[in-house]
Amino acid sequence: MSVSLPWHEPQFQSLLTRLRENRFPHALLLTGRPGLGKHFFSAKLAEVLLCLERHTVGSACGKCRGCQLYRAHTHTDLHEVNVLEDKKVIGVDQIRAISDYLSLKSQFGGYKIVIISPADKMNINAANSLLKTLEEPPMWSLLILVTAHPASLPPTIRSRCQQLSFVTPRQEVARAWLNEQGANGDDLELALRLAGGAPLAALEIATGDWLERRRQIFAGFEKVLLNKVDPITTAAEWLKFDARATIYWLYSWITDMIRLRTGNDSEGIINGDIGGRLEQLSGVITSQSWFKCLDEASDAWRYAESQVNTPLLFENLLVALANRK
Ligand SMILES: [Zn+2]
Repeated sequence: MSVSLPWHEPQFQSLLTRLRENRFPHALLLTGRPGLGKHFFSAKLAEVLLCLERHTVGSACGKCRGCQLYRAHTHTDLHEVNVLEDKKVIGVDQIRAISDYLSLKSQFGGYKIVIISPADKMNINAANSLLKTLEEPPMWSLLILVTAHPASLPPTIRSRCQQLSFVTPRQEVARAWLNEQGANGDDLELALRLAGGAPLAALEIATGDWLERRRQIFAGFEKVLLNKVDPITTAAEWLKFDARATIYWLYSWITDMIRLRTGNDSEGIINGDIGGRLEQLSGVITSQSWFKCLDEASDAWRYAESQVNTPLLFENLLVALANRK
């Protein structure tokens, strides 16, 4: 990947200007839909701030001691807080550890940086604890909060951060970048559309096995709708897929079918590659029932974030689909 992503450049340059003018914020909130590279941005910013030669070079030099440690992932002035492997949220202990960490002197006398990602995963106690640090930030500290769901953060936290909003780049910018990453061919346009224009998400779709998984999930969805298979059996088969991704596909198919059925915005459907099939299937259930199914999918989407019981989530959704006619 290049030094910075092309659609990040304006925000990056404006932060570097603030750095030169000694107006750099203590806390940043990076927002925007998944797949725009917010986390990548936070890491690149940390790299520049930790470079000991940045004042002369204007970016990370890649050679100094700071850059070497950064690249070896052993820089002690950078700390990242994520959801721990066996947990669903970022807990208060993880956030308390930040204030202890920031109170210690930095290794090279420069910034101490903490990246919290995804910040919306902090539970209420964690958020309250972070608020204290945000209210009295130690000198030369920088907190970078990364989230696709800023509304899930308490307003008191949002108001104490400088917000940087990332938006979907123009199609030609995204396409050119994807080409540079080696993504080409027929699937590229489809991937970009399925990713809602977010280039990193599109890259994952175009180069991973997403499209094949989507094909398999769609086959199961179709059979359940046509009552050719027991929904419980399909739910069990789907356990090998990521819950959120699976529910996302279902949600997008149902949304498209409602669009097709109501005759509104058939041009704007997301899954254009299977539009014909979706149009046929949309007639299997009444419009009213489709809206109910959309509600079910929407609930499942919310639960997929918090509920551990994925089998039950799939079962409920598929049984609802099979029974609504
Ligand atoms: Zn350097």
